[in-house]
Amino acid sequence: MSNYSVFDAGQWQNLDQHVFEYGPIKAPGKVFLSEKIDSSGCEVSLNRLEAGQSYPFLHRHNRHEEVFIAVSGRGDMQVDGEIIPFNEGTVIRIAPEGVRSIRSGAEEPLCFLCIQATAGSLSSRFIGDGETVPGEVRWDGPVMAG
Ligand code: ZN
Repeated sequence: MSNYSVFDAGQWQNLDQHVFEYGPIKAPGKVFLSEKIDSSGCEVSLNRLEAGQSYPFLHRHNRHEEVFIAVSGRGDMQVDGEIIPFNEGTVIRIAPEGVRSIRSGAEEPLCFLCIQATAGSLSSRFIGDGETVPGEVRWDGPVMAG
């Protein structure tokens, strides 16, 4: 068994080829990754909201905090009724209890990552969980199909 998983979602501009369906919800441009890469500690989604769109619902979480990272475009996040500008480079963490929604700006699509993890589960910050391993870095191994 391999120590890694790979999924190629394609280019952000073509993200609407992925459609997330959950009950009555049908969201083109949204792809959840935990199933695709077998992640066990966090859920990650790639998201593209075309210009002038909004999630048509408010939601909160039971145990997961969410970190939203705007990759490109402009928009707004709404948390507990407050509007927070959400533009390329903005990172917003929302506690599980925060009631939230998101919209893109009128002019261009908003592309963003959303990372969900159990609130309070982070065991160390920065590189505290890593350790160096003896050996030389080499790049002459087999190239895997990706
Ligand atoms: Zn959420």
